[in-house]
Amino acid sequence: MRLAVLKERRGSEARVAATPDTVKRLVALGLTVAIETGAGATAAIPDAEFAAAGAELAADPAAALAGAGIVFAVQAPLPEQRALIPRGALLVCTAGAFADPTLVPSLAEAGIDCAAMELLPRITRAQSMDVLSSQANLAGYRAVVESAVTFQRGFPMMMTAAGTVPPARVFVIGAGVAGLQAIATARRLGAIVSATDVRPAAKEEIKSLGAVFIGVEDAETAGQTGAYAKEMSDAFRQKQAELLAATVAKNDIIICTALVMGRKAPVIVTQAMVDSMRPGSVIIDLASDAGGNCAATVPGQQITTPNGVTVLGWYNWPARIPVASSALYSRNLFTFLSTFWDKEAKVPKLPEDDDIVKGVMLTRGGAVVHPNFLPAQAAPPQAAPPQAAPPEAAPPQAA
Ligand code: NAD
Repeated sequence: MRLAVLKERRGSEARVAATPDTVKRLVALGLTVAIETGAGATAAIPDAEFAAAGAELAADPAAALAGAGIVFAVQAPLPEQRALIPRGALLVCTAGAFADPTLVPSLAEAGIDCAAMELLPRITRAQSMDVLSSQANLAGYRAVVESAVTFQRGFPMMMTAAGTVPPARVFVIGAGVAGLQAIATARRLGAIVSATDVRPAAKEEIKSLGAVFIGVEDAETAGQTGAYAKEMSDAFRQKQAELLAATVAKNDIIICTALVMGRKAPVIVTQAMVDSMRPGSVIIDLASDAGGNCAATVPGQQITTPNGVTVLGWYNWPARIPVASSALYSRNLFTFLSTFWDKEAKVPKLPEDDDIVKGVMLTRGGAVVHPNFLPAQAAPPQAAPPQAAPPEAAPPQAA
């Protein structure tokens, strides 16, 4: 069976869905791997390295996709490339189906069986395939590195003969995978770090990394026991805003990572909070793909407010560290395929009653099969997938 990997074409996407390491593993499964030339260029993987690993190089998408039974991609291929995917092929990617309501029906119509990896259930067995975790971890690291470059003072306290440079104060909003890595990275650089979250489990994790927990603890947060946070009430948001106002004003750098799966991100840093910050402060908004956690964020852009606060609202943070993010993403996809691989027949075998398969499959055999995308239940209009919107897409509109 032939597996194709195309060059990513959406916006500023710099990742690639295979590496020489995963090509070797895919070939060992019995696959012929076709890589479009230049697919790895932005992730520092020359064509020659793919060829040395056993891949066949294809000059364009048509050549790569001819006869393909499987397609690996980072984001959903554009309609022009999707039209070249043979009927019956399995497409494995971060589909971003909540952001584009036309995608799922068009995949079904084209007879493409699509596994949307961002919908993977958060169960232990699926951890090594979890693209949201692998990419969020790197985004959290990159957020702190970008903030350190943008902040014109430095992170650690430096006591010198010429005087003392105070340590940076960093406040992390949302202590999931990205937030915890941001806390750890900021601590390593010498900052004084505090963080907030709505899930009670996050409090101990924040403290175990040496950061101070700041957050509302009430009946509503006590009910946040799942892996993903649920949307909070207006009353909670008011309490949270009152508590965080003083914290934001005291900090130099705010790293926003708070997401609610399939929904617009909550706005937690209000314009008044931004106005209260000192000139030279920095806000990094990792939630910008889902609209942003900060009222001043312009999704996709870097801006400086009239009071001198720089807000980085770029899209697609994992693509800003493409060598590492491609390596981990590719391994996630390989693990998914090899878990559901029929070694005898050398074809994918995706049992319909398996929890992982049920979680990720959007379409099968020309029909929409995912319960969230069945024709009768169109996605809610405010829905937006965390970390999955194409970088060039218009920012999600406020609900
Ligand atoms: P996420 O990207 O959906 O959200 C980021 C964080 O923002 C979460 O911690 C969430 O609680 C927080 N948040 C949401 N709304 C908020 C608000 N209004 N105010 C403050 N914070 C808010 O989440 P994630 O990082 O992908 O994962 C969340 C949790 O799931 C983590 O603890 C992670 O360890 C766990 N997880 C478990 C598995 C597993 O296999 N069991 C796999 C991956 C992740």
